[in-house]
Amino acid sequence: MAARADTVHFWPPGIECAVAFTFDFDAEEVWLAGDPATVERPGRLSQGTYGAKVAVPLILDVLARQGVPATFFVPGRIAERHPERVAEIVAAGHELAHHGYTHTSPTALTPAQEEEELVRGTEALARFVPWVRGYRSPSWEFTQHTLGLLEKHGFEYSSNLMDDIRPYLHAGAGLVELPVHWSLDDAAHFWFAEDEWSKKISTVEEVEAIWQAEFEGIRRLGGCCIFTMHPQFIGRPGRLPLLEAMIALARETPGVWVAPAHEIAAQARRALVPATGAS
Ligand SMILES: [Zn+2]
Repeated sequence: MAARADTVHFWPPGIECAVAFTFDFDAEEVWLAGDPATVERPGRLSQGTYGAKVAVPLILDVLARQGVPATFFVPGRIAERHPERVAEIVAAGHELAHHGYTHTSPTALTPAQEEEELVRGTEALARFVPWVRGYRSPSWEFTQHTLGLLEKHGFEYSSNLMDDIRPYLHAGAGLVELPVHWSLDDAAHFWFAEDEWSKKISTVEEVEAIWQAEFEGIRRLGGCCIFTMHPQFIGRPGRLPLLEAMIALARETPGVWVAPAHEIAAQARRALVPATGAS
């Protein structure tokens, strides 16, 4: 039986907080999965293309400068559409993780379709890495079948839910959850509501203040700070310095461990299941 999360010290000696920089490399798939007819709307689609064409290389440069390994959640169809970019991500030493085959919420799928998405997504990523340990749903949403399917197909962690600030084990599934939140998601702050023009784009200073406060709060509580970013948003020229500043802040803060999501999940599993070690 797992120990209670609030009695567990999750991190290695001297470490009080873990930070992962994760990137959902959605590119055009956000729009194509939502409406296949978008293929005939190059203007709309170009918003995602920017992620593959310009932003990912710029983000890889930032990560290399900072010497930080990150996690890229990639829809299988984007791995097929932009194989050169995915190969660059892997060659740079970053983790590749599952983000659906198409960018379709599991809640819009039958159980058979949901499993097919998992299998096809893994097959697409298998061209680049021997195995895929992590899963992030395209909507941060589960069905009642999702956890069982993730376990059946050998996933080690999920990074989807907002009910904690520390990792925990899903009951019965043996799967580690690395919790997320909208406040640490660049899309919540930077996505322009192009259909309604109803939402202001946040300034870098506003987002930096939100991210610093959340990082500091999670650090004080000994949790894990999982940043969720999207190349088409954080990879804009005016925002890349914010990414670099947040990475530098995490790296330079004593007692903070910056690691790819799978390493944080593995460490949390060792802390939560001490009797069986890394099982
Ligand atoms: Zn996504």
